[in-house]
This record gives sequence, C-alpha cells and structure tokens, in this order.
Amino acid sequence: MIDIITYIFAALLGLGMGSFLNAWVWRTRSGHSIIKGRSMCTSCKTVLRALDNIPVISFLYLKGKAFCCRKKISWQYPLVELAMAVLYVGAAYTYIGDATMTAISFIVLFFFMFVFVYDLRYGEIWDKMTTVPAAILFFVQGQLGILAWQDMALGALIGGGFFLLQLIVSRGKWIGGGDIRMGLLLGIVLGWQRTIFALLISYVGGAIVGVYLLARKKVKKHATIPFGTFLAMGGTVALFWGYAMIEWYMRLLHI
Ligand SMILES: [Zn+2]
Repeated sequence: MIDIITYIFAALLGLGMGSFLNAWVWRTRSGHSIIKGRSMCTSCKTVLRALDNIPVISFLYLKGKAFCCRKKISWQYPLVELAMAVLYVGAAYTYIGDATMTAISFIVLFFFMFVFVYDLRYGEIWDKMTTVPAAILFFVQGQLGILAWQDMALGALIGGGFFLLQLIVSRGKWIGGGDIRMGLLLGIVLGWQRTIFALLISYVGGAIVGVYLLARKKVKKHATIPFGTFLAMGGTVALFWGYAMIEWYMRLLHI
C-alpha cells in the first residue's frame, strides 16, 4: 500500500515538474524570469487560468488549442509531462525505500530532461542547466557518500575531456562548449564507469537516429545533430541501467 502511494506521488510530482520544465524552457528562450510573473499563453501572452494549466489534462480537454487565441499548443507540453511522470515512477521503483537516492535521481532527471528538450528544440545547451547542477551534485553526492570524490572527478575528467579533445582536434567544428559542460555533468552524476557507458549509448543512439533521418531524407548530410539531446538520453539510460550493464559486461568478459 505504501508502495502504491509512493508511485502515485512520484507520478504527480513528475507531471508537475514536467509542466514547470516546459514553462522554464519557454521562459529561458523568450527571456522571461522563471520566478516572476504568472504562466501565460506562449502565443498571445494572456495569463492562463489555473484550470488551463493542469498537466496533460488541460491539453486534452482544450484539444491541443489555447483557450485564449485557439493557437495550437505544442505536443512538447503533454509529452514532456508524461515522460517526467514515467521517469519519476521509474526512479521511485528503482530506489524504493531510499528517499535520498530517489530525491537525487528526481533532480538529475529534471536537468537531463531540460537539456534533452532545449537542445532538441533550439539546438543549444543552456550552460546554467549543466554547470549549476554539476557543482551542486558534486558537493551533495560527495558529502552523502553516494559516489566517491575520486569517482566523480575521474568521471568529469572523462566526460568533459572527451569533448574537449574533440573540440581541440576539430578546432571547434564538431562540437561546442556546451557538450563539454554536459560531459562534465554526466561524469559527476554517474561516476567514471557509467559515464563511459552513457557516452557509448549516446553515440549509438545518435548514429541510429542519424542514419534513419538520412535514409528518410529528412536531413541533409552535413546537418548538425543536437548532441546534448542524445547525451541526456544516454545519461538517463546509464542512471537506471548503468551498473547492471557494466556488471553484465564484466561477467561476459570473465567467461
Ligand atoms: Zn493565447
């Protein structure tokens, strides 16, 4: 019974945080403060009624159109809200009985999702969403003994260094500074082993999607890929299954 209440709470929190995330993405892009001002329509700037600001449900009963100007509401809104609910339930399930780890994974998932959405939509990694959580999580995880300081430092070195190296080799053509800072965040969140796994997953994911889009002629050959989106995805996969995958791989090597 306690478990069910926990999952319901996680789902509701995920929906709420997803809604908050959508608002933050839009406010960052349009230069509004996240602290000041009420939620407003992204098209005509009418202040939203509380009823029109309920995650997923509002989108459904408004049939995807704003109540004020009938402009289409982006699918990003309900999708991000639902995805966050699923991820939060997943985290609550993974860390059931461990409130600290559950809370930390909630925070991590929020920032990963922010990078995922922002880079996908605008082709940019907003630095504050990587450097600030990286600094905070380094301190918190180290203090609580969740990951060893050395593990996080090595992770940051591998994650950040991997992209720094590419930046130097390509003279800034392949990647930007945003990727380096995202690599740094991955390293601190995951520790060095899971960071390597996350990078691997990101590249495999990027390659699959890239080949698919090329085959469908949706993109040109030299189109840039929003790599922060793939790093966020790889980081999320590694957060949930990183240790299990590494263990499986190690056993495979020993046989
Ligand atoms: Zn409107």
